[in-house]
Amino acid sequence: MLIIDCHGHYTTAPAAHQAFRDRQIAHIKDPGSPAPMPARIGDDEIRETIETHQLKLQKQRGADITIFSPRASAMAHHVGDESVSQTWTRACNDLIKRVTDLYPDNFVGVCQLPQSPGVPIAHSIAELTRCVSELGFIGCNLNPDPSGGHWTAPPLTDRHWYPFYEKMVELDVPAMIHVSGSCNPNFHATGAHYINADTTAFMQFLEGDLFKDFPSLRFIIPHGGGAVPYHWGRYRGLADMLKRPPLREHVMKNVFFDTCVYHQPGIDLLVEVIDLDNILFGSEMVGAVRGIDPTTGHYFDDTKRYIDALALSAEDKRRIFEGNARRVYPRLDAKLTARGL
Ligand SMILES: [Zn+2]
Repeated sequence: MLIIDCHGHYTTAPAAHQAFRDRQIAHIKDPGSPAPMPARIGDDEIRETIETHQLKLQKQRGADITIFSPRASAMAHHVGDESVSQTWTRACNDLIKRVTDLYPDNFVGVCQLPQSPGVPIAHSIAELTRCVSELGFIGCNLNPDPSGGHWTAPPLTDRHWYPFYEKMVELDVPAMIHVSGSCNPNFHATGAHYINADTTAFMQFLEGDLFKDFPSLRFIIPHGGGAVPYHWGRYRGLADMLKRPPLREHVMKNVFFDTCVYHQPGIDLLVEVIDLDNILFGSEMVGAVRGIDPTTGHYFDDTKRYIDALALSAEDKRRIFEGNARRVYPRLDAKLTARGL
């Protein structure tokens, strides 16, 4: 059985990459100065940052492959204009490509999108296509709120998003719904904004009819589906009140949750409430919560332990660790099959 972690970010990217971003942000305020260029980063710097963090933890914790994307909180689509977002996004995705080239057995790429508040999502199609067709990426992170906590974009079920969905379907890639940093002080980025966005996206899908128009469109809602599994009765009840079909056929053929829930009782609830075919193993390691749980002595984000501890058959665990990810990411399945896996 392969252990596929569907949720990893390059949170430990070389400092020169962030220094480029800092120069880029400074340039927004001083547009007369020469535009900064993305950092020149050596392979050794990438090796150093990966081998001392994500790769080391993969081995320690017993995972095989991480679906790897740029640091989500740093996407910051609300910073600068569209051209700033385009340049930053391209640099971030190119860095992920370098990681996947250096460690093709351990990492497979998912791209950031050059979204920008008020800009049509169609402007992100070219970068998605480049990343999938040229760089070999298998999916993308789609930000439902590029304004960074002010929610100025239409709901995900709005036709605004349709041109992008058409391309996702054509390329047969899923999107992880993933917000970025919060510039609204009401919402802590990882503690409130992320979980709000996960829950909000699910409710939008419930209210809408998106999957009637796109029956093969697939989304991963991370962080265990936000508040949704815990409140599953509320959502089933709302579907009924709003005269929507049962969630199993209305939403859950197209929407999947990861296991980035950082304690055993939360994972126990997730697998009790949500169909196992809708759960993908994920850890978001070296991410939002990096400490050790004093009650267990283990890292909060060592989520494989929680799955291992479940009273499920080996076949059921294989669905969570491998099978579901191969189904949701067909381009990953093709890569693995080509490797005889
Ligand atoms: Zn994430």
